[in-house]
Amino acid sequence: MRRAAKGEGLAFVKNVVSKHESDECLIWPFTLREGYPGFVIYEGRQILAHVAVCLEYVGSKPSPDHEVAHSCGQSACVNKRHVSWKTHKENMQDKQAHGTSLAGKPHYKYEFTRETVIELRRTGDFKKFLGLGASIRAIRNAYYGKTWKALPSVQELSKMDQGSK
Ligand SMILES: [Zn+2]
Repeated sequence: MRRAAKGEGLAFVKNVVSKHESDECLIWPFTLREGYPGFVIYEGRQILAHVAVCLEYVGSKPSPDHEVAHSCGQSACVNKRHVSWKTHKENMQDKQAHGTSLAGKPHYKYEFTRETVIELRRTGDFKKFLGLGASIRAIRNAYYGKTWKALPSVQELSKMDQGSK
């Protein structure tokens, strides 16, 4: 993930988020801040991208006590269907239900299997597994072979796939 160029974050909020008509998580593609999307300049103010998504597609903040909640429990998600305004108290209750600790550190529940590790190594589709709730560390470790060492590596799989054609 890289840092968004000037205006790129807002363009993503306006152009990509608006077209994402799916219940799958849309993971912020640029630099994350402690697991959350980074800042965009929205209506002249620097705000976090998921907050901009909520303002743009859900509506204005109902009260100063409201904050953006993720129904999916995936803090890096900017799917407009997954964000809503909740009071701090409601949001904390949701986080507990999602298994996300009060400190805001995400607790990832996704577990790789032999099949999904092979799929990841074949496709390199990190975003899909982020969307399923895997941590970036778990994905990298599985992809680069720090975990699941007994399974064929990315290079071995690509050779096998070429050989079978
Ligand atoms: Zn989501």
